[in-house]
Order: sequence, then structure tokens, then C-alpha cells
Amino acid sequence: MQSAKKHSSAIALEGGLPVRGEILPYGRQSIDDEDIEAVNKVLRSDWLTTGPMVHEFEKLFAKAVGAEEAVAVNSGTAALHCAVAAIDLEPGDEVIVSPITFAATANAVVYQHGVPKFADVDPKTLLIDPNKVEAAITPRTRAILATDYAGQPCNYDRLRQIANKHHISLLTDGCHALGAAYHSQPVGTIADMTAFSFHPVKHVTTGEGGMITTHSPDVAKRLRILRNHGITTDHRARELKGTYHYEMVTLGFNYRLTDIQCALGISQLKKLPSWLCRRREIASHYDRALKDIPGVTPLAHVPHSTHAYHLYVVQLDLSSFSADRSTFHAALRAEGIGANVHYPALHLHPYYRDKFGTHPGQFPVSEKACETILSLPLFPLMTKQDEEDVVTAVRKVADHFRR
Ligand SMILES: *Cc1c(COP(=O)(O)O)cnc(C)c1O
Repeated sequence: MQSAKKHSSAIALEGGLPVRGEILPYGRQSIDDEDIEAVNKVLRSDWLTTGPMVHEFEKLFAKAVGAEEAVAVNSGTAALHCAVAAIDLEPGDEVIVSPITFAATANAVVYQHGVPKFADVDPKTLLIDPNKVEAAITPRTRAILATDYAGQPCNYDRLRQIANKHHISLLTDGCHALGAAYHSQPVGTIADMTAFSFHPVKHVTTGEGGMITTHSPDVAKRLRILRNHGITTDHRARELKGTYHYEMVTLGFNYRLTDIQCALGISQLKKLPSWLCRRREIASHYDRALKDIPGVTPLAHVPHSTHAYHLYVVQLDLSSFSADRSTFHAALRAEGIGANVHYPALHLHPYYRDKFGTHPGQFPVSEKACETILSLPLFPLMTKQDEEDVVTAVRKVADHFRR
């Protein structure tokens, strides 16, 4: 890319040379030979599902997070659904969620015939605002389901206070936050239940997969029943006892994670500490570089917390630029940088508007933020050159559109 400099005035969107030829995605898995060998071994074994790898993965995951119990399921969405099902939501019961989260967070409430009640976010961190949570509580509220957006923990001191005061559950969508901590308490040990995802862009992957952590063995037992059709024993437990007898005690699901996937998860988990370090290293490089790029500001850091950096999100000060976010995004893509948007405001999706009557103007902080955010590429296998390319492209595009 030697000629990038020569043409630095022309952005690729307007015919200039791009910073790089190949698109750098915003996130990507890391798979090595050890992962592949672990999966191969299970494929040659007796148990492809409900086997020993499931228990092993759960044990190691619980240990990695510091939780008493971990229950493996086949997606982060299934983890959220099981958590909501485990609090025995009655139709019409309300669960408070953020508008700035993936659709699955609120969908999990709707699966159980509950009503997601949105509460607006803090403008600097885009984490659910405890004051707005408190204001959203009604006699039908059964839980707060807080998303640790981008990988930063919510204000759990306040959320716990509110949950206790109103005798409701505190649940976490921790799909961004494996490895995060709040006042040195790891995410996964703070809420009554925490849901994690093992989608390829998340911290560790099993292809598709998820986990729920909890401190309560009773809750874990209930979650294991829910993931297996509502049946009290699984195939292997019956096999070990030499019995065919089983009972279905509640309406559950087939949310089981296979042994093939658990073996991959176990192998991935070993690398989590080094991957977290790498994510933080890339983030701190971006933090330093963006200080010199006015109008492009990273989200504020939550004090006394450890960031897991699933996402590196910047907010564009659109008054500084002659471009909107969508043009900024297209310009970065043209430079070879696969920036992304997490997320369009959830309450403004047609489904939620139609079914729950949500509308523009209801959550102004979220709605404004959703027009200005971009997630920059961040994953452990990024090279130093990739990092430099991101910074170069952001600077080039910002300088070009600066008023
Ligand atoms: C990834 C994600 C989910 C869903 O996880 P899947 O494993 O894709 O089902 C839910 N909530 C948030 C915030 C996520 O990022």
C-alpha cells in the first residue's frame, strides 16, 4: 500500500486508493490445531452429545468466571431464554431491558409471553441508566435484564439495590462481557443468572453455543431440566443407571450443546486470558490514537471496572463532519475497514413497534446514540498492521469530512 500516502487526500469512497485491499472484519474467531484436534477426538468417541465433555466444559467455565455453577446451552439466545424461563415469568409480566442491545435480549422475554420494558441508557457508556430502570418499575416488573454493552459491566451497585428493594430478579446479558469485572467481581458472579454466547465473534467460540452461570445449585438444576425438554434426567444419566425411566416436569426445550462443541469450548477457554490481554492492548492503542482525531470519541470507561472489550465502540460528533454515520461507515468500508453498528435501537424495530407500541422519542439518549456509533475492528488475531490500518483509515476519513 505504498501509494496510500501519495493519494491521502482522496478517500477511497471518492476514487482514491484504499488504505488496504482486503476488508478487515469487525470481529473474527481464532481457531488453532489444538482446537481442531480436540474436536476430532470427540468425533471418534462414544458421546457426540450429553456426554462427558459437557460437564467438563461447564466445570471449567464456572471456574474461569468464578461462578458456582455453569449450564451449557446451544446459543446465547437459548441462555437468555432459559434464564427468563427459570424465573417463572407469567404472561404479561415485565422485564426491564436496554434499547441498546442485540434483539435476542428482549426476544427472550417475549418467548415467555413477558413484556420487555425498555429503560434508556447513560449517554457516555451506553449502559442502562439505573435511574431510568427505577422509573420503569411497575407492579408487574419481575426482573432487570441488563446488557454489559461492549464488554463493560453495568452499575451493579445500583441495579442490585433496585432489584432487592422491589423483590425482583437481576439478570445479566453478559454476551459481550466474558472476562469483565465490576469492583473486582467478575461478570457471571454478580447477577442471579448471567447469559454468555459462544458465537464466533464473541470471546471464545463453539460455533454456536451459550452458557448460564449462577450461584444457586437449585437454579442450575432447573436450567438443566429446561435445556432438555423439561425432563429430569438426560440420556447419559439414564444409561449410567441402566434405566429407561424418565419424567417431564415442565415445558422445556432442546437447547443442548453437543460434546463436539464443548470440546472446542474447553480448548478455546485455555486461551481466554491471553485473548483478553490482546483485546485490551488493541483497545488501548485505539484510545491513544483517537485522542488526536477530533470528533471520534470512544465510549467512556466505567470506573472501578475491568473491560472485556467484545466491541470497541466510538461515537461520532456529527456536527464536526459533513457526513452522516452511514457515509462515514461506507467510507471506512471503502478503505478496507469493516466497521459495524451495534445496534440499531431495539425498540424501533418494526416488530417491537407493532407488538408493543414503542415509538421514536421514547428513549432519546439511545435513539441519538444509535445514529452516531461505530464499532471498529477488534479481535485477538489482528496484526499490528491491521491496527495501524484502522487508525489510518479513521483519521483519513475523519479529516476528509471534517468541517
Ligand atoms: C451475541 C449476543 C446474543 C446472542 O447470542 P447467540 O449466541 O448469537 O444466540 C445476545 N445478546 C447479546 C448482547 C449478544 O451480543
